[in-house]
Amino acid sequence: AWSAAFQNEPFTDFNQPEHREAFLKALAAVKGQLGHRYPVVIGGKEVYTEQELVSRNPGHVREVVGRMSQAGTDLAEQAMQQAQKSFATWKRTTATERAALLLKAASLLRQRKHEFSAWMVVEAGKNWAEADADTAEAIDFMEYYAREAVRLSETSLHQPLPRVPGEENRLQYIPLGVGIIIPPWNFPLAICAGMTTAAVVTGNTVLLKPASNTSVIAYQFFKLMKEAGFPDGVINFVPGSGAVIGDYLTAHPQTRFISFTGSKEVGLRINKLAAEQAEGQIWIKRVVAEMGGKDGIVVDETADLEAAAKAIVVSAFGYQGQKCSAGSRAIIVESVYDQVLARVTELTNLLEVGSPEDNAPVGPVIDEKSRDKILEYIGIGREEGRLVTGGEQVGEAGYYIRPAIFTDVPVKGRIMQEEIFGPVLAVVSARDWEEAIEIYNDTEFGLTGSFFSTDENRISAALERMHCGNLYVNRKCTGALVGGQPFGGFNMSGTDSKAGGHDYLLLFTQAKVTSRKL
Ligand code: GLU
Repeated sequence: AWSAAFQNEPFTDFNQPEHREAFLKALAAVKGQLGHRYPVVIGGKEVYTEQELVSRNPGHVREVVGRMSQAGTDLAEQAMQQAQKSFATWKRTTATERAALLLKAASLLRQRKHEFSAWMVVEAGKNWAEADADTAEAIDFMEYYAREAVRLSETSLHQPLPRVPGEENRLQYIPLGVGIIIPPWNFPLAICAGMTTAAVVTGNTVLLKPASNTSVIAYQFFKLMKEAGFPDGVINFVPGSGAVIGDYLTAHPQTRFISFTGSKEVGLRINKLAAEQAEGQIWIKRVVAEMGGKDGIVVDETADLEAAAKAIVVSAFGYQGQKCSAGSRAIIVESVYDQVLARVTELTNLLEVGSPEDNAPVGPVIDEKSRDKILEYIGIGREEGRLVTGGEQVGEAGYYIRPAIFTDVPVKGRIMQEEIFGPVLAVVSARDWEEAIEIYNDTEFGLTGSFFSTDENRISAALERMHCGNLYVNRKCTGALVGGQPFGGFNMSGTDSKAGGHDYLLLFTQAKVTSRKL
């Protein structure tokens, strides 16, 4: 129950044979369900469309994970009307009722965690540990937001108002209305679940438009929510093209908010479209947008260099660098630069590239378009700097690229400035730790960063000067934990929504104050 304190879901230790076995069993079960057709679901009604999107395993591209029905604007409109209708009743349920359903969903997911992780292995190309962490984070979001919804509803605790003589004043957080949820493919369960459940546990109804690349996982999540008892129509499952229904729904006069995680380009487009008042629209739409990063790790000459090298490699190449938190830049103080670069290169060369099903440390990138874009950046890197290692395509089965390290890149170079979203790391040197921090800050993004040092004065200076939403000291810059590390970035990284923190649910509510004369 929500009275128990929130605790992060532990990760699975795959060194234990029984966990390996259980995972292999889940993988086999999921592999037995590949190739199915999936519907659009509006108010509980399943609609199979003629137009389908074929979702493929990025590690074995000939394998079809599923065929996803695609909503056009007609179905999107129907879903909007359904969500409006459902909002009228859902908003009147209590936070406690909604939170109870969410805790039920969390417990169902916990029971079936390997099955969900296995879907991510085949549809997203995550290795076991990355998939397991994704599922654990999804459970965390549900457990956390359930408690938060109840806490917010107890506003006397959350926002006690000073007494005014002769009056009774109250503040309550009420839902906004119908929201469009547009999650990314890179945390296809965790972020999809976090964004969706935050919106519904606060009393809103939603149209969930899953990321095309990972829409089968999103469907599994959708089904789980139904199983947990969320009424039909509260979450409507509306897969479709961003250009068609994404734009249509963003511009829709009845859309109250849009919650988006993805690229800067799409985020800015949503922000712009949402800013226009459509005919009949009576509010300013709220946009929550978490976008890209060009995150970096700064290492000074007093640091534990082995720990720094390991953190650089994990941050740069975990899930093939396809995280907005990925440490795609390493900025090393001159006097230890050669040593750190040598060790980072050595560790990178040890990373085996292979199938996520076999739990290889480095798997495929998500799709052909992404592979081509990454290879293009590798070409740009060769012109701008020096390729130290990697960058080749590997094998024919899927979109595999060997982790690439560049050096001698100008600070203003494209591979130092633009988000690549792939296994490409730029390593540069700085005169001293202060210059290193300046280089770190020289980006339009501001999501995550790490500072490696043992000097207390420098650490305090770095904590103040490095401008990003999630700053770490002496550890990797990926893997923020729900609760402990609320997540979101500055500048072009987005609206700093701080998912998994106390501030997050407020984004899906509006505060109503009532004053009664006594
Ligand atoms: N929250 C994730 C992390 O801390 C990153 C989320 C993302 O890439 O979208 O690594």
